[in-house]
Amino acid sequence: MSGTLIAKHVVETWPEKEVVVVEARQFCSGATGRNAGHCKPDQWRGFIDYEKQFGTQQALKILQNEQQTWSEMVHYITENKVDCEHWSGNTMDVPITPEAAEKAKKTFERYKEAGGKVDRIKVTLEPKKAAEISQIKGAQACYEWPVSTLHPWKLAAHVMRGNIKRGVNLQTNTTVTNVICSKRSQDKWIVETERGDIECSEVVHASNAYISALEPSLRGLITPCPHMCNKVMPPKTGKEFSGFKGSYGVLLGQDDLITVNPRLNGDGAVLFGGSNKGQDDLIKWLEKNPHQYIDDGLTGFDSVTKAVHEFATGELKGWSTDAMKQEEAYKHAWSGILGLVSATLDVKIPKCGLILDQSEDGVPFVGQLPGLPGQWICAGHHGQ
Ligand SMILES: Cc1cc2nc3c(=O)[nH]c(=O)nc-3n(C[C@H](O)[C@H](O)[C@H](O)COP(=O)(O)OP(=O)(O)OC[C@H]3O[C@@H](n4cnc5c(N)ncnc54)[C@H](O)[C@@H]3O)c2cc1C
Repeated sequence: MSGTLIAKHVVETWPEKEVVVVEARQFCSGATGRNAGHCKPDQWRGFIDYEKQFGTQQALKILQNEQQTWSEMVHYITENKVDCEHWSGNTMDVPITPEAAEKAKKTFERYKEAGGKVDRIKVTLEPKKAAEISQIKGAQACYEWPVSTLHPWKLAAHVMRGNIKRGVNLQTNTTVTNVICSKRSQDKWIVETERGDIECSEVVHASNAYISALEPSLRGLITPCPHMCNKVMPPKTGKEFSGFKGSYGVLLGQDDLITVNPRLNGDGAVLFGGSNKGQDDLIKWLEKNPHQYIDDGLTGFDSVTKAVHEFATGELKGWSTDAMKQEEAYKHAWSGILGLVSATLDVKIPKCGLILDQSEDGVPFVGQLPGLPGQWICAGHHGQ
């Protein structure tokens, strides 16, 4: 998605420029094409952590930027009638442990006190009412606000079709192996690929998790890590389960989270993700199998599937029926590679065992690469 949107911006801003997009495999085969399609602007949850890192004003701006990005995306999809299973409606953040509820309340109050915009967020602090609204048995509270879900590949493909019409040259199945200075001209770069070289004045690295393979200065700063998505067909709606009305972030305490993303305008399946307890085993396994950090061929990881299964049967009303009790129903899974930045690693997967630079800030890297005029980066994306 990053490369596609950067190309769009470049051809719209400088129509005279020639743009080549180089993709190692098929179009949109990275994390974007594999993600759950949950477009959820953070409205308050990350505030305290951002405030600690960047101060109050910058933390407010980060959340405003999330909101603006979401609004502009919805505007683009609606205006251009993009066929991407787009749905907009309320998401719910639902803490299900006292610890998570306390943290959520403290964060929300601090955000409000700091001048954060809370008029879009509906808060229910009474557990019984929260459980009724959310259909989550152990709900301690519920925070609701507008978000979207969509089919990310379809959105990216729509934007890329427009780019191609404007003259963008898309080369798939073309891995970039190196970016070096041109010998002919000092202000040019050579992008070396397996299918030939491209000489150009500007290079934008949008390979996210894989960036350090081409730009070693980012090693240890942006780190690849597989993330699982489990796709489940929900039980039939009835007395107990009335069908999902929106998406969820279920807050489990500490920084654990399960995301529940019913693609309401899609095929009816529900996508589960987030950093659940099964993730710890995945990280331990990765430490023993380091080559897997960049391999998105993983089609299921038992501990992650088990954690999703336990959560769904234990917490979702109507999911404890016989059919949904079978772990088999949760086994359709796949992976993609996130570009974790060190603060994310520190918070979410402390046992990762990677060498971290603690001064890093947990947000994506966007801008010119220091000491490399004409080389730019937009990477370190890891989603919600
Ligand atoms: C399972 C899963 C579920 C997720 N769910 C959500 C969600 O619901 N909501 C959300 O907001 N985020 C989610 N995310 C995170 C989100 O997908 C990423 O933050 C986002 O897709 C990053 O986009 P990107 O364009 O920067 O990277 P990518 O989509 O990974 O694109 C990078 C591209 O670079 C290419 N590439 C790499 N190296 C080279 C090279 N040397 N030469 C040429 N090309 C190269 C890759 O093939 C790839 O296509 C999820 C991620 C995963 C894995």
